[in-house]
Amino acid sequence: MERTDYNGNLRLKDAGREVVLDGWVANRRNLGSLLFIDLRDSTGIIQLVTDHPDDFPDVRNEYVIEARGHVRAKEVPNKNLPTGEVEVVLTSIKVFNKAETTPFIIADKTDALEDTRLTYRYLDIRRPYILNKLKTRALIVRDWHEYFDSHDFLEVETPALNRSSPEGAKEYLVPSRVHHGCFYALPQSPQLWKQLLMIGGVERYYQVARCFRDEDLRADRQPEFTQLDEEVSFMDMDQILALNEGFLAKIFKDTVGVDIQLPLRRIPFWEAMDVYGSDKPDTRYGLTLKDMMPLVGDIEFKGFEGASYIKGIVIPGQGKETSRKVLDNLQLEARKFNLKGVLSLKVEEGKLAGSFGKFVDEAHAAKIIEALGLQEDDLVLFASSSDRRNIDFGMGALRTLYAKKLGLIKPNTYDLLWVVDFPMFDPVEGEPGKYVAEHHPFTRPRDEDLPLLDTKPEEVLAYAYDIVINGYEAGGGTMRIYDHDTQWKIFKLLGLSDEQVAAKFGWFIDAFKYGAPPHGGIAFGLDRLTMILTGTDNIRDVEAFPKNLQAVDPMSHAPAFVDDSQLDILDIKIDEEK
Ligand code: ASP
Repeated sequence: MERTDYNGNLRLKDAGREVVLDGWVANRRNLGSLLFIDLRDSTGIIQLVTDHPDDFPDVRNEYVIEARGHVRAKEVPNKNLPTGEVEVVLTSIKVFNKAETTPFIIADKTDALEDTRLTYRYLDIRRPYILNKLKTRALIVRDWHEYFDSHDFLEVETPALNRSSPEGAKEYLVPSRVHHGCFYALPQSPQLWKQLLMIGGVERYYQVARCFRDEDLRADRQPEFTQLDEEVSFMDMDQILALNEGFLAKIFKDTVGVDIQLPLRRIPFWEAMDVYGSDKPDTRYGLTLKDMMPLVGDIEFKGFEGASYIKGIVIPGQGKETSRKVLDNLQLEARKFNLKGVLSLKVEEGKLAGSFGKFVDEAHAAKIIEALGLQEDDLVLFASSSDRRNIDFGMGALRTLYAKKLGLIKPNTYDLLWVVDFPMFDPVEGEPGKYVAEHHPFTRPRDEDLPLLDTKPEEVLAYAYDIVINGYEAGGGTMRIYDHDTQWKIFKLLGLSDEQVAAKFGWFIDAFKYGAPPHGGIAFGLDRLTMILTGTDNIRDVEAFPKNLQAVDPMSHAPAFVDDSQLDILDIKIDEEK
């Protein structure tokens, strides 16, 4: 091949040079006496031109060609293209391959359905919109290697075929051919392995780790995703956070050219919940949660019976805008978050109207208006609950909804913070005394809270930290338990019997008997980081070959039935009735 340049790199300084360029025909305009071709390669688009169209082969969109010519300055630069100050005057074209008409036009602006784009993902990737996101993703990974290499981290690969170890989500299982009835599980994260590496004396481990979770998919969730995973021994939490802030600063600089202010803010979990109604708060806008208990708690109202919390948000100037219908829809939204319903107050001519208006006497109205600083046409949405997490998450969801609706989120602004002091356990609703781990069972309770493990486990806070960027949990980690007995105790508190702990995790906690160092770590979600740094809310934009929302790859049609002979080898029978 004789390519001399990548298309996207040509500039005015190249004028006069002979060049050989490769790529795809992105567009062709034949004006009879003039032929223009936009030639696309992985770096960008350059315009080719000739005033002898008949001397060249007839090329169509997406033909793969090699073009020769010389670069010249354009009389009228095209401001929309980085290469727009120049064009290449053609001397020859070689056609490597023809192309049929593509199912959708290969351009950043497209109205093709996502499933169509995923069916022909290789064409979709030709769109700079997708390709540029893959480039940013690769840049983050390059920075990851550069940064942690320079801090003496050792890259270690951990197994993909593991023993099943429930970490929260459902696992993908892989049947064993050799061991009848036995299954491997694909890793939800390399959590246990990286801790064993610490016990193995590695001290500083990192890895770009592929993880698998069999959960219902959402805009920001895929069945397989990539973690930038790390673990260190002999560092405390402050040191780990500072180390990782350095990495974050590097990727923000290299990908979006932004200098982030270090050290990052830290917000305790309960403060984030109380104020923003979220454990991953977006603090770029207000609409903070207000405690309404002192304002309306003493009003006779059936809905408040049994409620320990009444919380609301004030939405300025939205009273008239917010019709009955909108409020009805909000009820549905609230129910998704286990709230019974949403009440409203609107300031109309200085008085309080809205669904709750008739329950408010003048004295209460004056108190509410004053305490919340309400103005004419303001809207207050509020709800009550007996559960602290429910009320916070519910009102937090409404807060986000309104921020999006009112356009309060400024694009291309970045809000980074750590959420810290997470509770160790999340009580299971309706099952007193039952808990699940808020992060994972290997998280170390705060030293001062250790005595509470025996008395009030729900009040135990942990050395756990999530990095939150623009309302996304972009990563999270914890300091780990490093003594055998505490680890055993945590499993017991999570409801596992001695036999279950021994059977499921015995192999892991045995290692703690032989000298485990203090250690901790974190995992960043590469997909989420890339989403944030490329400004998309859709995780499928940042993976080369994602699954759709039904966890299907519309191109290869995975998952698919397999031959009976394959099932026979594994001794698996499919129940056709189901
Ligand atoms: N393994 C954890 C996770 O996947 C991260 C960590 O604690 O390092 O969330």
